[in-house]
Amino acid sequence: MATPKYVFMDDRIVPWNEGTVHVDTAAFKFGSAVFEGVRGYWNADEQEMYLFRMAEHMNRLVFSQRFMRYDEIITPEYVTEKTIELIRANGIQGENVHIMTTTYVAGHGGQNVTGPIKLAITAQERPRTAKITDGISAQVSSWMRVPDNAMPMRAKVNANYQNGRLATLQAVADDYDTAILLNSRGKVAEGPGMCFFLVRDGVPITPHTSSDILESITRSTVLQLLEEMGTPAVEREVDRSELVAADEAFFCGTAWEVTPITSIDKLAVGTGKVGPLTKKLQERYFDVCHGTSGAHPEWRAPVYGAAKANA
Ligand code: PMP
Repeated sequence: MATPKYVFMDDRIVPWNEGTVHVDTAAFKFGSAVFEGVRGYWNADEQEMYLFRMAEHMNRLVFSQRFMRYDEIITPEYVTEKTIELIRANGIQGENVHIMTTTYVAGHGGQNVTGPIKLAITAQERPRTAKITDGISAQVSSWMRVPDNAMPMRAKVNANYQNGRLATLQAVADDYDTAILLNSRGKVAEGPGMCFFLVRDGVPITPHTSSDILESITRSTVLQLLEEMGTPAVEREVDRSELVAADEAFFCGTAWEVTPITSIDKLAVGTGKVGPLTKKLQERYFDVCHGTSGAHPEWRAPVYGAAKANA
């Protein structure tokens, strides 16, 4: 995949190589930054790119900034406008795009520095891999998900991601695709950067939002789609041993979309093949992301629409 031409940095679109942060900033020294990963989906029929649930991502970005006591809150309107400008500047069309919108503490000094705040955005093409069709393997991690009263996953703070990295690096070293983290109570929490569902006797089940997880936007999309499909999910605590009892399992998240899990700790999930409910849900999820059937237009914001209208 080619490197994009441009990045957004400090109020300007600049060449990719100029997207740098000083080593003495709180952002660099302490990971004092918050972010949203967002996806844009290409709709070939309409020749349009749709940002998926941008408004919800921007609301969460505001929450994360407030949570970190930022001196200034960069607004949803500004971040959305600049994201669209950057995708257009990079001329991304005909492929899905993955966007990172990060607001960071650009000030120098110690732990109490909370400004000035700057915005950085990247937008890169991100085609799907075969794993999303074939399914993946997961390892129950020996690393514990950080508890809410230590480093809450509910806020999308860059420094939080060291926890998921440790689990990922261990899983990959042990020859798994990724990890499932348990929380401090020994209950199933989530994956390093995605939420977790399993299916038992036709009923989808997912850890509730007090399980030390991110309040994922994809999770809420999936909950709504499952309800519309006539198979509503149960949100509750999930025991580790239920991973063995599951007929189906999948991860969900902006980056992971709906990714089937076919084995956990080297034991097949159900038949060891992608489950039927997971498959049906995945199709429905792709449909609403791309806008193929037109369902849930409120979840899609066009990137090129205004440009076409003004052309
Ligand atoms: N959990 C964690 C820890 C994450 O980083 C992400 C990715 N943002 C998710 C879950 C999925 O959240 P979302 O569906 O909002 O992308």
